[in-house]
Amino acid sequence: MVPDVPPPALRLRFDADALVSNWRALDRLSGSARAGAAVKADAYGVGAAKVVPALLSAGCRDFFVAHWSEVPAALEGAGKAGISVLHGPVTAGDATFARATGVKPVVNSLAQARLWIDAGGGPCDLMVDTGMNRLGVSLDDLGDPLIEALEVDLLLSHLVSAEEDTDLNERQRSRWQDARAQVRHARASLANSAGIALGEAFHGDLTRPGIALYGGVPRPEMASLLRQVVTPEAVILQVRDIAAGETIGYNATFTAPSPMRLGTIAIGYADGYLRCWSGKGGFCASGAALPVLGRVSMDLTVIDLSAAPHLREGDWVSADYALPESSAATGLSQYELLTLLSRRFGR
Ligand SMILES: *Cc1c(COP(=O)(O)O)cnc(C)c1O
Repeated sequence: MVPDVPPPALRLRFDADALVSNWRALDRLSGSARAGAAVKADAYGVGAAKVVPALLSAGCRDFFVAHWSEVPAALEGAGKAGISVLHGPVTAGDATFARATGVKPVVNSLAQARLWIDAGGGPCDLMVDTGMNRLGVSLDDLGDPLIEALEVDLLLSHLVSAEEDTDLNERQRSRWQDARAQVRHARASLANSAGIALGEAFHGDLTRPGIALYGGVPRPEMASLLRQVVTPEAVILQVRDIAAGETIGYNATFTAPSPMRLGTIAIGYADGYLRCWSGKGGFCASGAALPVLGRVSMDLTVIDLSAAPHLREGDWVSADYALPESSAATGLSQYELLTLLSRRFGR
């Protein structure tokens, strides 16, 4: 038998207060609409097991996952609150599972409507395509008797570029209004995080923030409302002093200009700390800035300990991981920066 495994040398620090504060800010900004929460992809890599119960106790009652495999984690945290599965029922097995768990499928096509009705139907959501051309029933198909036969709770559509000021936002809003006039439904929803900032006309009955809950800033005017939620942290595995002229890491991309003290830390690109941080990322400990030196490798990164020479093997350091700044520095999207961090982290 394998004895208990020691705690990992890297962890994702999670600020539950910041998460709840972000949800409340987005709920307020949604005006008379309520805010739900997109918790797909394990709550964007933050960890659905912690995120869902925290948002439930803050008052969130509508949760969105993408895959049926994500339902158990959401159910465990959300109990009887509404859970919607965005991919919808693709097989009869999906529909049976939805009926057995009381989770709502999001119907995305006439074929999915047929499948849901054949399985016995019940409350569902309906995604209408207003310009994304990804998932959703076309406006032309909304008069179909299959759609009429559905018991639609949320009538949804999804904005293509709510983080930009483009005519497309208004065009989609107007098509969504047309759909609302055509299909019987209990509630309507259009806005993702960025869409919430587009104003009341975009709010309907429910908004569906994702990235902004987790500290992403989709529009600059939302920056002051939102707080960082997760911070990657890693242990210093080795401290080493090198002489001027020595190089660091694969391909010797950094040469020490003077004697330096280095820390080798337990994080690398296999953990989602990608190679684009090479020579560019930063960590900190007790207020000191500790820049990344040379290439990030699979399991290890080397940082400069010059500003904090007291740090020892076993000490923890925190990555500079504010999402807007990290996105600007690396070219990765704020969404990728979060969902990448899902492997070896202790959560
Ligand atoms: C992911 C998703 C959201 C949340 O989007 P953010 O940009 O992260 O706020 C909302 N609605 C749908 C349909 C989604 O797929």
